[in-house]
Order: sequence, then C-alpha cells, then structure tokens
Amino acid sequence: MKRQIFHDASVKLAGTYLIILMALSLVFSVSLYQVLTNEFDKNLARNTDILEHSNRPRPDQSWRDDFLLNQINNSRIGKNRIERQLVVLNLFILVFGGGICYWLARRSLEPIERSHLALERFTSDASHELRTPLTAMQTEIEVALMNPKLDTKSAKNLLQSNLEEVNRLGVLSERLLVLARLDEHELPKEPVLVSDILAQAVKSVQPMADAKSIKIKRTLDSKTKNLQFMADKTSIIELIIILLDNAVKYSGDKSQVELTVESKHNKLYLKVSDKGPGINEQDLPHIFKRFYRADQSRTKNTQHGYGLGLALADKIARIHGGDISVKSSPSSGSDFIISLPLVS
Ligand code: ADP
Repeated sequence: MKRQIFHDASVKLAGTYLIILMALSLVFSVSLYQVLTNEFDKNLARNTDILEHSNRPRPDQSWRDDFLLNQINNSRIGKNRIERQLVVLNLFILVFGGGICYWLARRSLEPIERSHLALERFTSDASHELRTPLTAMQTEIEVALMNPKLDTKSAKNLLQSNLEEVNRLGVLSERLLVLARLDEHELPKEPVLVSDILAQAVKSVQPMADAKSIKIKRTLDSKTKNLQFMADKTSIIELIIILLDNAVKYSGDKSQVELTVESKHNKLYLKVSDKGPGINEQDLPHIFKRFYRADQSRTKNTQHGYGLGLALADKIARIHGGDISVKSSPSSGSDFIISLPLVS
C-alpha cells in the first residue's frame, strides 16, 4: 500500500519532470526550425536577387523559371527534412526522457521512502513490544480473577510478576522516549568528572550484580580518575549503565565484569569486559540496531530485554562525538569499548 503511494508519487514527479523537459525541447525545436527556415528563405531571396541583377547575359525566361522553381523545391525539401528530424528528436526525447525522468524521480523519493519505512517499522515494533507484555499481564490477571480459590501466596506471585513486567515496560518506554528525544535535540553539555560518572553507573548496576554474585572490577589510574570532559552527565551515566547492565545480564553467576578506563591521544576509552556467552559473528553488525536481539535461543528466552539498550548507547556516544566498538566471540566473552573525545 505504502509502496503504491511512493510509486504513484514517483509517476507524478516523473510526469512533471517530463512536461518541463518537453516544454524546453519544443521551445528549442521551434526556435531552431525558425532560424533554419529563415536561412533557407534568405538563401532563396539572395539567389533570385543575383539572378535578377547579374551583369552576365540574361538567360531566357524559361531557364529562369526552372532555376527559381528548383530553388523553391530545394528549400521546401530542406524544410521538410528539418521538420522530420525535429519530430524524431522530440519523440526520442519523449520516450528516453520519460524513462530517465522516472529513474530520477525514484532516486529523489528514495531517501524519503526509506526514512518513512524505517519510521513505520519503528512504530510498529514499538507498539508490538508494548502490546506483548501488556497482553501477558492481562491474561495472568484474568486467569487469577477467574480462580475462586486464589490464595494469598498465588496472588502475591502474580503481583510480583506483574510488578517486574511493569518495571520492564517503564524501562522500555523510557528508552523509547530518550531515543526519540535524542533523534531531535542537541544535548546541553557540562564538564563531568570521570570518577564521578563511573561511581554512579556502577552504583546503579551493583544490586543486579550482587544478586548474581558477580564482581564488578574497576581499573583506573590516578591520572584518569581526575579527568574532566564535556558531556551530558545523565546520558553518559546511562551509556555506561547500559553496557554494565548487559555484561551482568548475559554473564553467568559468580563471574567477573571489568570496567577499565584509559586516556590517550586526547580520547577517553571506557572498556566493559565480561566472560559471558559472547556474540556470534553474524550478529555483531546488527546488535546496535533498534530492537535487534542476537541469538534468540540463547538470550531472548532466558534474558529479558527489548533490543534497545545498545541502540541507545550508540546514539549517546555519537551525540558526544564518540563511538562504541565491540570485540566478542562465543568462546571468550565480550569487550565493549566506548571512545569519547576529551577537552584538551
Ligand atoms: P537487550 O535489551 O536485548 O539486551 P541490547 O540492545 O542491549 O538489547 O543488546 C542487543 C543484543 O546484543 C542482546 O539481545 C544480546 O543478544 C547481545 N548482547 C549485548 N550485550 C551483550 C553481552 N555483554 N554479552 C552477550 N550478548 C550481548
């Protein structure tokens, strides 16, 4: 349906291009025709004049008539040939120009079509992601309400499960909102202290790490500790939380997550390493895309998420003039490296 709209728009745009092209071509053809036929007429007049005023002995009347008739004929044939050639030229422009105009129109509309489709996909993904947990909650509640023997323990379990779902929905809508906001606005930046943002990020992931007995090891030297750089503090903390949160989420119990900070060549490098399941090579190019979840069999069924964390992290890094790279393999865990420019 949407494709049909873009096809119709392309046809209309191509039609407009073609009308302009044909109008120019016709104006050019008519002008050219006039210039050339004028030349023929002038030539004819010149020859007649030469014949009439020549000093040579005057040829007899019939020879003159033949000569003039011949001249007029030649001029008419010449004009006809020009007319035919101009008609062929205009038909050629109409057919090939039409094709080129359609190709140009498709090219002009392509970026708009692409962003429109991306927006459509994003909206439908988002509404699907919101609807699934809501339907699950609704079903659980309906089943519980229909059970006349619902005891306090089952009711508490239900509330607990619903609360978890509500929390996840909160995170999802928050991330969707932040992504939409980051798409539109520049973030106000202020000087932030590296040690400060790290401490705040680790603090917010610590309860989750404790629940799995995972140790978060921080490595930063005294020089890096006191470094300051320009950033939107809340977003940068969110960026580190997303990577730490994933590292903890995808690692096994009692493992270790490392947060290493280095500064070199006027850049700050923050590395989050884990010894978790790693990421398959074919998933690596896609994990920063919105709603992408790698290796569904290993992660989706066991770990909750919406595939929005890394998309948001990547966006935040880019807004700060930096980027995120990843080194990962299923056997050796994952290293996510954030690189951010420092103030000199
Ligand atoms: P999610 O909400 O699914 O965690 P993300 O955007 O944060 O979404 O991550 C996208 C996918 O990348 C995840 O579904 C997961 O498969 C993979 N991934 C991200 N971080 C890690 C990690 N530290 N270890 C293994 N896989 C990871």
